[in-house]
Amino acid sequence: MNLTEIKGLGKVTQSKLSEASIYTVEDLLLCFPKSYKDQFIQPSIEAKLNEATVLKVKVLEKPSVFFFKKNLTKLSVKVQQNNLIFRVDIFNRQFLANVIRVGEEIIVTGKFKKTFKVFTASELVLAKNYEEGIIPQYHLNDIKDGRMRKIISEVLKNHPPLDEVLPDRLLDERDMKGINQVIKYIHQPKNYGELSQAIFRLKYEELIRFALRIELIKQKQLLKKYSRKTYDIDLVKRLINQIEFELTNEQKQATNDIFRDLKSSHQMNRLLQGDVGSGKTIVSVLAAYASVTAGYQVSVMAPTLVLSHQHEQVFNKYLKSLGVRVGLLTSELSLKKKREIVQQISQHEIDIVIGTHALIQEDIAFDNLGFVIIDEQHRFGVEQRKKLREKGYYPDLLLMSATPIPRSLAISIFESSDVSQITEKPKGRKKIVTKIFSDRKLNKVFERVMKETENNHQIYVICPLIEESDVSGYYSVEETLDIFKLQFPQYNVESLHGKMTDEDKRDKLDRFRDGKINILISTTVIEVGIHVDNATTMIIMNGNAFGLAQLHQLRGRIGRSELQSYCYLIVNEGSEDTERLSILENEDDGFIISAYDLKLRGPGEVFGKNQAGVPHFNFANLIEDDDLLQNALSDAREMIDWHDSLSVKLKNDVIKTIESYHLD
Ligand code: ADP
Ligand code: MG
Repeated sequence: MNLTEIKGLGKVTQSKLSEASIYTVEDLLLCFPKSYKDQFIQPSIEAKLNEATVLKVKVLEKPSVFFFKKNLTKLSVKVQQNNLIFRVDIFNRQFLANVIRVGEEIIVTGKFKKTFKVFTASELVLAKNYEEGIIPQYHLNDIKDGRMRKIISEVLKNHPPLDEVLPDRLLDERDMKGINQVIKYIHQPKNYGELSQAIFRLKYEELIRFALRIELIKQKQLLKKYSRKTYDIDLVKRLINQIEFELTNEQKQATNDIFRDLKSSHQMNRLLQGDVGSGKTIVSVLAAYASVTAGYQVSVMAPTLVLSHQHEQVFNKYLKSLGVRVGLLTSELSLKKKREIVQQISQHEIDIVIGTHALIQEDIAFDNLGFVIIDEQHRFGVEQRKKLREKGYYPDLLLMSATPIPRSLAISIFESSDVSQITEKPKGRKKIVTKIFSDRKLNKVFERVMKETENNHQIYVICPLIEESDVSGYYSVEETLDIFKLQFPQYNVESLHGKMTDEDKRDKLDRFRDGKINILISTTVIEVGIHVDNATTMIIMNGNAFGLAQLHQLRGRIGRSELQSYCYLIVNEGSEDTERLSILENEDDGFIISAYDLKLRGPGEVFGKNQAGVPHFNFANLIEDDDLLQNALSDAREMIDWHDSLSVKLKNDVIKTIESYHLD
């Protein structure tokens, strides 16, 4: 059925519909309401004092209009519903006086305030113009809701049925309506029961696709058999004994998870997630070392130069004395040096190579790459992860991330069927004191900062912009540098941002680390991985400009030692965003913060709608609908063995979107 066949739908409306990406009748039916308005009419006997209600009443007398002041009029009309006779008052609608006829029925929205003799209305409509019930709101740009409802109602009268996508068995087991019934319910619910049945089914449909994706990824990964690494456990134990601290239980657990994978015959694809500072690096050092003792090479990719350098230092600190050869490959190296390293890699004179994107850009051939580690892996795209992996023959893969997310989402986005989590922090860390300040109260923050600088502690100040721009009202690095220089003339205040050369950035960070800079004004370039124990305070200008997970990640730069640390979130005066941010004042568990963020904004907003594997939910909420998700996951596990045509089609549709099904 074509849009042109719809009664009363002209060219103009058609072009307006196409602006909203509606080209066919099916598009129209799948354009779901954004919200609903309750327009049920109630019997007056059920009305309570001071409670909003909608009544249908009959006009008994001609309305009278009272003029009070220039801008205030009152229209009063005597009405009747069943046996109850009362007066309806409505302000500033004197123009209705001529429209309301005696004997006619009108609909009034409002409340009985003090007595049942006077009803104060905020809206008054002639009954013949009133739509009763649960009224869908479509919120399209150019088409009024009333018009949209008429168009849809016309279509619903005789449209060709939509194809069902869920197998009958599933509909039966979960007691769900078929898609055509659901379409009718969602556009024209007669009552809330119908509406919730429709929403249930639509949520479920989103979740079952998501759940199938997860199950299919797990299945696929189990089938990949190749590497079984025989590492030397005695050597690894010796290394563990040399570490200057005791591993936390979860670090031990994660290490065991990885070692089990290394020994097994299927390819490891594990995500290690742990809050900033939870100590993921040492786990990766142990895993890398085990692989080396098994005769393999290891590559470690990190998103920034700074982080690569830091990793090189840490890996060397623990492994150099054990005879492990660690190399660094980054874009800043001279051509000659690069060639040398590439040569060493191909001849297995380097066991562990650490680097940035250069690792995938350069023409490197490993002698025997068996283990790939990607740190802060959400910084890399699917393609980049794939390229690094393809440098070896089914190497085991360890992804590390400091932005913890629910397991189901981790599997869907990163296609890692196994997840290890570190939720506890190493001993001795204090909770970061976090406080929100309005930018009018910046003085209070300066006082607190002064106390810290007097104790020789260092400060980070984060701004959302590099240069000034008057449109946004955001603080820039430039402007903030001036403010702090003026405020703290006795201290060394400097700036750092992404437009500087890598060399300059390194230089600033080195000098900050060495304590030569007291206050560092920066953009979010410092977000990833740098580590300065003596930095105890972070001020984030325009806290509103950032996501919760990102703020938490930023704040992870401080509180990395036994010193008490402080984080100040500066928000614009009168910001309505304070409630969202206040979770950071109370909560320091990255998992909880990330779940809250997901609940509020949905995975599409948090991870980017176009990132592969990020589910786009219109109805389901991954956090709130967890029960439903668990049901969908268990159904998906069963559906793997269902072979009816709808199940097969649904699975095939999902498979098309899974990268690892196309890797080999
Ligand atoms: P992240 O998980 O953010 O990558 P790191 O691995 O950089 O965290 O660890 C942060 C700091 O904590 C490092 O200085 C590391 O040496 C230290 N650390 C790690 N594990 C422990 C532990 N079990 N006890 C004490 N300190 C630890
Ligand atoms: Mg790290």
